[in-house]
Amino acid sequence: MQTLFPQPKTAAEALRQANILARASYLEEQGYRFVQRTRLNLYGVYKPGNAGPHSDYVVDRTPGHEICTCKGFKNDGDCKHRLFLVIEEEMMKDLAFRCGVEW
Ligand SMILES: [Zn+2]
Repeated sequence: MQTLFPQPKTAAEALRQANILARASYLEEQGYRFVQRTRLNLYGVYKPGNAGPHSDYVVDRTPGHEICTCKGFKNDGDCKHRLFLVIEEEMMKDLAFRCGVEW
């Protein structure tokens, strides 16, 4: 799977990136909510317990300009929120392919 992480320079950095990717798959089970905005490619990220109208972060998946407003994205170059959406998309594509549906 393609991530936006820079090439890791140390083993610790590689491990950190692998951990972020591993955690991304469990966000929904942990109670995170992802809500697609009216603008294509834009998603609100709601942390567990946030039932209000305002999201904690926003992920923009515009190709070439992908970004998340969280601190992790700024520090690491990618984050579990954006990666969650990528994993979801790949699962949907895979499912559509298995069912013979155009995606
Ligand atoms: Zn993020």
